[in-house]
Amino acid sequence: MHMTRLFLSPPHLSGRERELVAEVFASNYIAPVGPMVERFEREFGARLGIPAALATGSGTAALHLALRWFGVGPGDTVVCSTLTFIASIAPAVQLGATPVFVDADEATWCMDADLLAEALKTRAAIGKLPKAVVAVDLYGQCCDYDRLLAACTPYNVPLIADAAESLGATYKGQAAGRPAAAAIYSFNGNKIVTTSGGGMLVSRDGAMVAKARFWATQARDPAPHYQHSEVGYNYRLSNVLAAIGCGQLEQLEQKVAAKRSIFEQYRNALDGLPGVTFMPEAEYGQSNRWLTVAQFDPAGTRARPEQVRLELEARNIEARPVWKPMHLQPVFRSAPVYGGAVAERIFDRGLCLPSGTAMSRADVERVAAIVRQCVGRKR
Ligand SMILES: *Cc1c(COP(=O)(O)O)cnc(C)c1O
Repeated sequence: MHMTRLFLSPPHLSGRERELVAEVFASNYIAPVGPMVERFEREFGARLGIPAALATGSGTAALHLALRWFGVGPGDTVVCSTLTFIASIAPAVQLGATPVFVDADEATWCMDADLLAEALKTRAAIGKLPKAVVAVDLYGQCCDYDRLLAACTPYNVPLIADAAESLGATYKGQAAGRPAAAAIYSFNGNKIVTTSGGGMLVSRDGAMVAKARFWATQARDPAPHYQHSEVGYNYRLSNVLAAIGCGQLEQLEQKVAAKRSIFEQYRNALDGLPGVTFMPEAEYGQSNRWLTVAQFDPAGTRARPEQVRLELEARNIEARPVWKPMHLQPVFRSAPVYGGAVAERIFDRGLCLPSGTAMSRADVERVAAIVRQCVGRKR
């Protein structure tokens, strides 16, 4: 019996994180601002080839700031991928907007560009164009930004990349999120790079990031006497946590390589089993394979994802269902959705397998062996 739990995607601090945190202690910048935050923003932006970056307390906060910049408010709509975590749309709702969801496509599991074009066309016809589109890079795979931008541009609707899961992935040689008008990233404990909790907003539009920085710092006017012409938020990242981020960022390439290698190990161990397939990788880029997602097709196997999950859980191994599509969520039951069947099928058949970068070959094989048992013998 294995006593230590194998988590889905736990933090993996294997570089200079502790050393950099010690530097922060020595500097006494135990604050929501400081030199390490500036360094984290600078290094993050440089790595992605984007000049302006703002570190925030969470990815959700970063998205909130981006949506506010694009003027999202009461009575507006925001178009969002349906196959995602609720944080992709929650800030829009908090700003008073209502969501419109768009299905994934088979080839990428990310937002279907044709359906987005159709959605924008029908929304334009009724005079209800969205204030923004939030497209999600699912499980570390970039969405097809060029095609999404081609759908958005005729209507002047900005594209925001929810790249919370895709740091380190590429799209036609560019960093995940870079082609969008703005992109957000998450450093939550389970993400490929973590600060325990944190996020980043980036944009090629320096004015946008400057305004977001202002809002994120309680919207203080440039005056010594605490003057405010607007109301903002306390959304800055702690200087202590930024040190963890700097240490983590130095290892991004190794982390992507480790995630991709774990995916390959799973695929080698399980591909060819009847009814078992994996999330496809789009030709236009390289996924970071944040999580390895397997699918169990009922036409090929009697094993259901929930049954496999429970078998793993019984051995203290954490697996998780695929995100439940937003258009199936009770809270969004009246939201319009374009398509939906693809996301529903992926939700029905998918299971996220443990994908932590510290996993050994033996760990992956142990998980794979249990999955193999559930599915039955090789063809
Ligand atoms: C994790 C995640 C977020 C939210 O990031 P936080 O840092 O936890 O606020 C947003 N969108 C997606 C797709 C995510 O996976």
